[in-house]
Amino acid sequence: MTAPIVIIGTGLAGYNLARELRKLDSTTPLLLITSDDGRSYSKPLLSTGFAMGKDADGLGQADAGEMAEKLNAEIRTHTRVTRLEPAARRIWIGNEPVVYRDLVLAWGAQTIRVPVEGDAQDAIFPINDLHDYRRFRAAAQGKQRVLILGAGLIGCEFANDLLTGGYQVDVVAPSTQIMPGLLPLEAATAVQGGLQQLGARFHLGPVLQRLERTGDGLQARLSDGQTLNCDLVVSAVGLRPRTELAAEAGLQVARGIVVDRLLQTSQPHIYALGDCAEVEGLSLLYVMPLMSGVRALARTLTGTPTMVSYGAMPVTVKTPVCPLVVSPPAVGAEGHWSVEAQGADVRARYLGPSGQLLGYALTGAATQERMALNRQLPPVLA
Ligand code: FAD
Repeated sequence: MTAPIVIIGTGLAGYNLARELRKLDSTTPLLLITSDDGRSYSKPLLSTGFAMGKDADGLGQADAGEMAEKLNAEIRTHTRVTRLEPAARRIWIGNEPVVYRDLVLAWGAQTIRVPVEGDAQDAIFPINDLHDYRRFRAAAQGKQRVLILGAGLIGCEFANDLLTGGYQVDVVAPSTQIMPGLLPLEAATAVQGGLQQLGARFHLGPVLQRLERTGDGLQARLSDGQTLNCDLVVSAVGLRPRTELAAEAGLQVARGIVVDRLLQTSQPHIYALGDCAEVEGLSLLYVMPLMSGVRALARTLTGTPTMVSYGAMPVTVKTPVCPLVVSPPAVGAEGHWSVEAQGADVRARYLGPSGQLLGYALTGAATQERMALNRQLPPVLA
């Protein structure tokens, strides 16, 4: 029997690749392996559950059985790949070897955990998949006060959604502004202002040092000496691409698993896609780059080697209280922010040395200009 194409991971990268492959080739054996239950879902919707009135079950879509049927694929759920063995073209699930024709690593990124003292570590909830979300929603049932660690894109989205859901929200982050590295100060201030109007309280500068149970919920002690009372904590301090198994197998890794524009790793017949992949130095943990990768890799795996390219890739941040669209300039791009602001409507453009548009951040009514600005942006990976 022909060895299958093996995809590790059934997130947006794994399942979309399988769908795209099946459009081009309906017969090559396809095996998907996932450590979770294999239910398909759209991860970006995790930070919109309250606004949409949906819990984890409501956000879930087809289960693994239905997906296997649709994709004419075998799907192994609750199955963790533990080792890669490129020289023998096989992977290991504990003591069980599985051979592949081609292997696609689509195993995503893992949440960063910050060290916190105290007896209430189990009340800290990272949310990076449907299972995390289910645990969080169960714990949040009947509670009122949520402390969010991290004021990045995901922390702010959860703040907006939890406030919409009627929770009291405190946000703690070590940065001096929200979404540092992504937004100029004026745009960050507009979004923070919107969230504050909804009731969010920001504590920017300190970090959470200690979390302890009290008679009435939890007490959080911050590094600046402040104490805050809450019922549970959402951790949104960041994600790190999963690279350990790849590094152990001798694949080249940097921030993510290093791949070329064919999405091939440093080993033949092994590709990486989605949050775990670093394409020509770009480690972009968003849906748009992942979908470009899906289309290119499906063609490559069906006999037409196709290099991935990225156009402009703006991100719509789900803070409806103050709409935000951002297209960050490339890391290290020479230039400066040019900002026009009218209240919560901020039009910030990142301009290069000859005045060319390299990135932008738009808030409030200024988000209407996104299409016009998108047309002027350079491609992220031509
Ligand atoms: P994942 O979805 O993490 O999938 C990884 C898969 O690998 C899982 O099935 C897991 O079980 C499996 N796996 C891991 N290790 C193993 C192993 N050893 N063996 C077997 N299986 C394994 N992006 C946007 O562009 N716009 C947004 O608005 C947006 N909103 C977001 C909101 C939230 C709350 C979050 C958390 C992210 C958001 N993102 C957004 C980012 C986007 O969702 C991700 O970039 C994308 O979903 C990553 O998909 P993936 O398939 O690479 O990884």
